[in-house]
Amino acid sequence: MDDIRKRLDHNLTAALSRLRQIGGGVAVEELPGASGNNSRFADEVDKIQANENLEMSFATRERLVERVNRLLAALDRLNDGEYGVCVECAEGISPARLHALPEVQTCVRCQDRIERFARRMSSRT
Ligand SMILES: [Zn+2]
Repeated sequence: MDDIRKRLDHNLTAALSRLRQIGGGVAVEELPGASGNNSRFADEVDKIQANENLEMSFATRERLVERVNRLLAALDRLNDGEYGVCVECAEGISPARLHALPEVQTCVRCQDRIERFARRMSSRT
């Protein structure tokens, strides 16, 4: 379990420093398609209107803030001895899943159900 704590701490530190980096600007490495060919992509980003850039950086920041919140919640759950238990069905979350995504709060089955539900809701509109 100490390993998990370290991983959560590490992820939290990384997410927080990413947030600081973003500041008022756009983090190019966070944009879709940015990996691999950063320089070419940076040129394209310059052509995007300033307000679109701003919106994208807001979205990026929002995702990071959500991640930080999930990581903090996971650390809380670790302190309370509830870490690794699905918040939906109270079953244990598989170690492989926790290893890949240390901040998850649901098991694969519940995650599937939640995602299917979300898709149904969005396709209805
Ligand atoms: Zn579950």
